Amino acid sequence: MSIIDEALSANATIASDFDPSLGKPPAPKIAIVTCADPRLSNILPMLGLAEADVDMIRNFGTVIDDDAIRSLVLSTRLLGTREIMIINHTDCGMLRFTDSEMEERLREETGRAPIAPARFYSFTDAEQNTKEQIQKARSHPWLSEDVPVRGFVYDVGTGRLSEVFPGKESVTH
Ligand SMILES: [Zn+2]
Repeated sequence: MSIIDEALSANATIASDFDPSLGKPPAPKIAIVTCADPRLSNILPMLGLAEADVDMIRNFGTVIDDDAIRSLVLSTRLLGTREIMIINHTDCGMLRFTDSEMEERLREETGRAPIAPARFYSFTDAEQNTKEQIQKARSHPWLSEDVPVRGFVYDVGTGRLSEVFPGKESVTH
């Protein structure tokens, strides 16, 4: 049985105890951009935040790309979130290869050269990379200057966050 089929079967059982109040329209207060890495899936309890208060935007490598911007603009302008938190992490898979290595490997494996993705956004330094993502979000004209954008590196070994500041030293909280 595939994992999806197992999940469907589990859903049929689990949904019988579903709390209908969870279906009410959301009123999130904060948008968080973080990595798709499963070790980040428990980030909300680690921050003491309620799921209902957070718009979670996840992608490989915590990238502020076109699509993250699209979500952040809608989250802040349409849904009313008032702060943006960018949470990169230690030991990210995106530290383990370069874009050109990945492209070469895929071209070899498939024998094809597609037009997209233009980049994989691999990086070599989580702190430095987070500073760049803060700057990319901060400079977008459709993200209000009234919305703070703060960046962090989550240590997957300790559960602690270090705050990074473009042009300054990091602070471990
Ligand atoms: Zn990651």
